[in-house]
Parts: sequence; C-alpha cells; structure tokens
Amino acid sequence: MSNRLNVAPNDLSAFWMPFTANRQFKQSPRMLASAKDMHYTTTDGRKILDGTAGLWCVNAGHCRPKITEAITHQAGELDYAPAFQMGHPIVFELANRLVDVAPEGMDHVFFTNSGSESVETALKIALAYQRVKGEGSRTRLIGRERGYHGVNFGGISVGGIVTNRKMFGTLLTGVDHMPHTHLPGKNAFTKGEPEHGAELADELERIVTLHDASTIAAVIVEPVAGSTGVLIPPKGYLKKLRDICTKHGILLIFDEVITGFGRLGTPFAADYFDVIPDIITTAKGVSNGVIPMGAVFVKKEIHDAFMAGPEHMIEFFHGYTYSGNPIACAAALATLDTYKEEGLLTRGAELAPYWADALHSLKDAPNVIDIRNIGLVGAIELQPIAGQPTKRAFSAFVKAFEKGCLIRTTGDIIALSPPLIIEKGQIDELVDCVRTVLNEVE
Ligand code: PMP
Repeated sequence: MSNRLNVAPNDLSAFWMPFTANRQFKQSPRMLASAKDMHYTTTDGRKILDGTAGLWCVNAGHCRPKITEAITHQAGELDYAPAFQMGHPIVFELANRLVDVAPEGMDHVFFTNSGSESVETALKIALAYQRVKGEGSRTRLIGRERGYHGVNFGGISVGGIVTNRKMFGTLLTGVDHMPHTHLPGKNAFTKGEPEHGAELADELERIVTLHDASTIAAVIVEPVAGSTGVLIPPKGYLKKLRDICTKHGILLIFDEVITGFGRLGTPFAADYFDVIPDIITTAKGVSNGVIPMGAVFVKKEIHDAFMAGPEHMIEFFHGYTYSGNPIACAAALATLDTYKEEGLLTRGAELAPYWADALHSLKDAPNVIDIRNIGLVGAIELQPIAGQPTKRAFSAFVKAFEKGCLIRTTGDIIALSPPLIIEKGQIDELVDCVRTVLNEVE
C-alpha cells in the first residue's frame, strides 16, 4: 500500500482546491494526517490545536469514538437507501430527535448534504410556500450585505460577499440586500451584542415600501454572520426584523449553518436571541462535520400548507439522492448523543465569559482594531496593510499554523470558533499563540 500521508509535491496538482490560493499553497502545503479531540496532527508529526473546529463544524471535537463506531456499524448494516418514496428507520428517528432540540415550533425537517444545499432548499420552500397558500406574487428574496449563504446560485444571489458573486453573471433576479450591521466606529471592542445599530433593521421597511410587501417572499440572514468576520447583531436588531416580517407576511429564514448546535451556548441562535424565525437552515454541527449532512427546519404551518393538497401528489418537487443518507443519519444521531451526554449544546454559555476576557486581552496587541465575541466564537480584526488587503491576517494564519494553532482568516479578520469541548487552558494556549503571532507579523 502506498504511503498516503506523504504526498510528493508533484502529486499536488490534480486536486483543484476550493477557496484556496492553489499555486501558493502547493509551493508550501499544510497537510493534516490525523485528528483527536482538540487537535490535528500534521503529516510531519506536529500537533495543531484546532481553534476553528475544522470549518466551524467539529463541535464535539475530533474522532469521537461513539461517532466513529456509529458510522462503522451503519456502513455494514444499511449503507445507502433512497428516501424518495422509501424510508429507513433511522432517518425518521433522527428527524424526531432534531425537532426535539430545535427551537419551539420547528416541527419538521428536510435533509440535505451541506449548508449550501440547505440554503437552496430553504429559499425554494419559501417561494413554493407562498404559492401554495395563494400568494404567488411573492417572489422577491431579501438578503444582506456581507451575508454568506453558501456557494450555489440562490445562496450567492442572496449573499452579500462581492468576491463570491462578481464572476458569475446576473444571478437570481428579484433580490435585494439590506445593509450589514457592522459599525466599527460605534461598536468596536464590544463584548457580546453591540449597543448600536438596531435601527438598521428599518432598511427592511424601506425595501418593503419600495417593492410592496405583496411581492416579497422571504428575508434570509445569518443571526451572527460568521464567514464574513463574526458580525454580531446589535441589541434588538433581530427582533425588529422579526416584527417587520410578521407585519408584512414575509418569511424570516435564519441561516444557522454556523450558529446551530451550540456555538452560541444555546442549541440555536434563535434560542439565544429569543427570536423564532419561520425556517432555519443548518449543516456542519448536525453531524459534527464528520459525514456531510444538512437539515432545514420549518414551522408546522409551512409544512402543513404543503400537505393540504391531493393525497396522491408529491407535495414538494425537491430532494437530493443523499437526503437522509443512512450513514450520515448514524453520524448525526451519535453526534446528538455526544452533545447530550457532555452538555455541549450549552457548554459555550459557561465558557463564554472566560472566552470573552481571553480574546479581549489581545486589545493592545499590534494592529488590532476590533475584537468581538459571542458564545464560543470571536474575531480579532487587524488594520489592513495599505494596498495589500488580507496580507497581514493571512500571514498570521501561516505563522500560527507553524506554531501549532489553527486559526481562520477572512479578509483582515482572524476568526476563532473552537470545538465546544475546549478547556480553559486551551483557550489560553490559543490566545497566547495569536498574541505571539501578532507580535511577529509586519
Ligand atoms: N451558510 C452559512 C451561514 C455558512 O457559514 C456556510 C459555510 N460556512 C454555508 C451556508 C455553506 O455551507 P457548506 O459549505 O456546507 O455548503
């Protein structure tokens, strides 16, 4: 058997890596060979503290035996089964278990394989629901600047990250964007929810007035925007959005692909902010990132509106070959068991004050212009180098990896979102690593 851990540089060219500067990476690759709990190990045997839960997904930590065993067992029992006009018990069991942890009223769940697919599914449910209940003129969708909703066409259309949109043509028509809520001048170095900016929700009223409510199907936002640099909603902002949507019969979708499953110290962000949307998209933490899976939660009245048609009809013309894949379901059930046994869906609340103090101790490190945090997620924003955006944070990422810590960067922002099993000593280690690195970067 070939040595799969050590890939010669010439062998790196076939894989066109996603969201990666491929040519640069392949000159000095960073290679992970194994993982356990809070750590990765590189192919050259170095331990790396995972400060990002992989890509915000490995909430229970790596290679947890219960999850590994569940997958192995399921793979030998029922490897694949369609969910079209067919079922298998664990997909129903998982759906029931998920609605038990989901916010009040989220009674039904549609399975996908990723966050991007969850977003497409949610947007399609919203549009179809408006039609099913006789409001087919509601076709417009509203997203937000700096929003990230995955990479498929619906998601990049409602999303607001320019680099992810600009190469791909006209995208979906009939989409508007509210302003983002990041007000560095007013809210810099806030712990938790910022004081200023709730009034930005009034922009939704302006868009509604412009187009008329009867044309608008849904609003989609990340309760805490993750990928664009951990933007925490100002106090009262989400409640205002909820009220405006309710007033005008517009569905509110929370994209909880990052915030779902304990990231904020509550099972979902909807619980944290006490604002219940109509649809919630999830992925990542649902299966601890181990097997691809996504889940879209909907309120009873949305589901029931689809079920009101003739009985022999398919109610919703949508689904994926791997919706409810048995091995993904087994991974998700074992993940939910692990969350429950170890109290992980609320552990972030216990650690949040310590996390906040640790992150904010970086305030005086060189080039730091903002620090923000909520639950077990946070960001350190750096002053960009003139004419070389992203360079400073990226060089911090490279140096941190060399020193044994995995951090994530987006633009000139360092984002941290460790597995929810992190111990206080490891928080200190992560923050010390960032401090050392910030003292070294240009
Ligand atoms: N929505 C949000 C809020 C996300 O953070 C992400 C991924 N970071 C996605 C959607 C897309 O998920 P995926 O990469 O699994 O398609």
